Amino acid sequence: MILLDGKKTSNDIKDEIALEVNGIVNNGGKKPHLAAILVGNNGASETYVNAKVKACEKVGFDSTLIRLKEAITEDELINEIIKININDSIDGLIVQLPLPKHIDEKKIINTISIEKDVDGFHPKNIGNMTLNLPCFIPATPAGIIELIKRYNIETSGKNCVVIGRSHIVGLPISILMARNSYPGNSTVTILHSRSKNINEICKKADILIVALGKANFVTSEMIKEGASVIDVGITRVTSNVTKSGWKLLGDVDFENVKDKVSYITPVPGGVGPMTIAMLLKNTLSASKL
Ligand code: NAP
Repeated sequence: MILLDGKKTSNDIKDEIALEVNGIVNNGGKKPHLAAILVGNNGASETYVNAKVKACEKVGFDSTLIRLKEAITEDELINEIIKININDSIDGLIVQLPLPKHIDEKKIINTISIEKDVDGFHPKNIGNMTLNLPCFIPATPAGIIELIKRYNIETSGKNCVVIGRSHIVGLPISILMARNSYPGNSTVTILHSRSKNINEICKKADILIVALGKANFVTSEMIKEGASVIDVGITRVTSNVTKSGWKLLGDVDFENVKDKVSYITPVPGGVGPMTIAMLLKNTLSASKL
């Protein structure tokens, strides 16, 4: 079994980005600049945004964190986004989700200029991705693709099963694995909460990508001998073993399946760190547009 080490791979990517930024700045160019909008005081969102801002510093980007009050109206938020859309010093913009219930997330995402949409959630970016045209690929699926590429996992003609069809993970990774490119050219099956015979379908997977958010959902009986397994899930559970009193579990029962697979991502340290690295990569690309 080979561990798909997202921590190490993401650090390699960050080093490559930092080197490129250094070159740009030494040649008189401008540092890439990411703006992040955080609405309200959601603890998890705060943690994610802070990690993104810190990652920007690490690779030499400029970053701007815009904190807005929970009670902001949809129109006020749209105005903030429009200001950033027309601000030439900012290359990429992310709006941390989820937003408060009174704000329509789709409307907000549609307001972000597609040239600055480094999260890749704008419908035009998703459309371009589907057609294999230049676009920003959402960071988590992009991280999965990069891991597969850097570990040279064969995907052409393979059966790829994806559990989950969310707009940020399951759906885009299914499209990417089916595209006529590498990684891609797989025969893709998408499973969701209405799917039947999940165990039997998973058992046929050469590549199993799991993104449903249910800890230890995938067990050894669902795995084909020698499969490559990518676990996107992150669930925080209480633990009496760790100092903090909690730990993170993936959607795959790692201990149960690890001896049966060829490749597997750990949780934590697999897909998670790759997500931030790919956001930085998208921001670097945006700065070159
Ligand atoms: P989501 O929006 O809740 O989507 C979950 C998907 O799983 C849905 O398509 C749902 O089906 C499907 N599903 C739920 N129960 C199922 C079941 N019993 N059998 C088959 N399919 C089932 O979740 P998400 O945003 O994609 O996130 C999934 C997990 O990945 C979460 O643990 C999240 O924390 C994690 N995540 C990690 C990263 C990272 O950077 N590592 C990034 C994003 C998300 P329906 O469509 O029918 O409801």
